Amino acid sequence: MAMKIPFRRKLDFTYGEVAQVAPGIRRIIAENPSPFTFYGTGTYIVGRGEVAVIDPGPADAAHIDRLLDGIAGETVSHIFVTHTHMDHSPGSRLLQERTGAKTYAYGPHGAGKLEQGVPVEEGGDMAFQPDQLLGDGEILQGGGWSLECVYTPGHTSNHMCYQLRERKALFTGDHVMGWSTSIVSPPDGDMAAYIASLEKLLLRDDLVYWPTHGPSIEDPKPYVRAFITHRQERQEQVLVCVRQGVRRIEDMVPQIYAELPEFMYPAAARSVLASVVHLVELGRLRTDGEAQLAARYWLG
Ligand SMILES: [Zn+2]
Repeated sequence: MAMKIPFRRKLDFTYGEVAQVAPGIRRIIAENPSPFTFYGTGTYIVGRGEVAVIDPGPADAAHIDRLLDGIAGETVSHIFVTHTHMDHSPGSRLLQERTGAKTYAYGPHGAGKLEQGVPVEEGGDMAFQPDQLLGDGEILQGGGWSLECVYTPGHTSNHMCYQLRERKALFTGDHVMGWSTSIVSPPDGDMAAYIASLEKLLLRDDLVYWPTHGPSIEDPKPYVRAFITHRQERQEQVLVCVRQGVRRIEDMVPQIYAELPEFMYPAAARSVLASVVHLVELGRLRTDGEAQLAARYWLG
C-alpha cells in the first residue's frame, strides 16, 4: 500500500494583492496558474522598508507593477532567485530595471547533459545571470532581516532555498511544495541529488516552509519524510515494472501514474526517467546504452 502524502492545497489569496502572510513576510501571487504552477508563482517580500524579494516570477510586467504598488514608499535592496525556471527568475530583469537592486542566486541555469546530442532542457531561463553568486551556508543581511542560503539541488542543479533566520522560516522554492510533488526532470533534474537535498532538510531547524507555489507547510519534517518515502516507492514501482517485463519508460508511466490525466504523461515520463537514472547509477537497473527516455531497461 503506497503511503499518502498529506498534501496542503488550501490557499487564501487575491491576485494582484501584496498580503502579509507572517511577521516579516509578505506575498503576492502572479496570475500564471497552470498544472505546473498551481495558482501561480508566489513572490515573497521579506522585511519592511528595505526589503528583499524572492522569486520575482515570470516576465510579467503587470505582476511587477502590482508588486511595486503594494510596497510603495519602500526600497527593494536584494532580488533572490531560488532557481532558473521560467515561472521563477525572468521577472528579476523587470524588477531590476525598475529598482536597480542586485540579483542573487546559486548560479545561471545548469548546462545540463545532452541526450543523443540534443539538449533536452525545458523551461529553463537561459538568460538569467545573477549579479552575485551564492554558496551553501552563506548569510546575507539587509534592513532587519538575514537570509541563510541552503543549497538544494535536484529539481534543478542550481536550486537554492533561503531561511529567514529571525523566524526560522525556509523559502523552499520548488524543492518542497505543499500542493504537489516536485518535478525532477533529467538532465538538469537529478533524483539522487533531490533525495539528498530532502535529507539535508531533516537535519535543519526550520519551523515553517514557504514554497513558491501553494500554501505554507507547518511542522515540515514529517512532510519531508513522506516525500522521501514517496520517491523510494516510485523506485520500487519502476523495479516492479521491469521485473514484469515492462522495459520502456513510456509503458511504465500509465502503470505507475494510473490516476494521472494523460496530458501529464510526458512530464511524468521525465520523472520516471529521473528514478531510472538513479537506479542505473545504483546498479539496480541496466540499459542497452545511455539511460534515456527511449531506452530499454533490465534488472541490474
Ligand atoms: Zn521549477
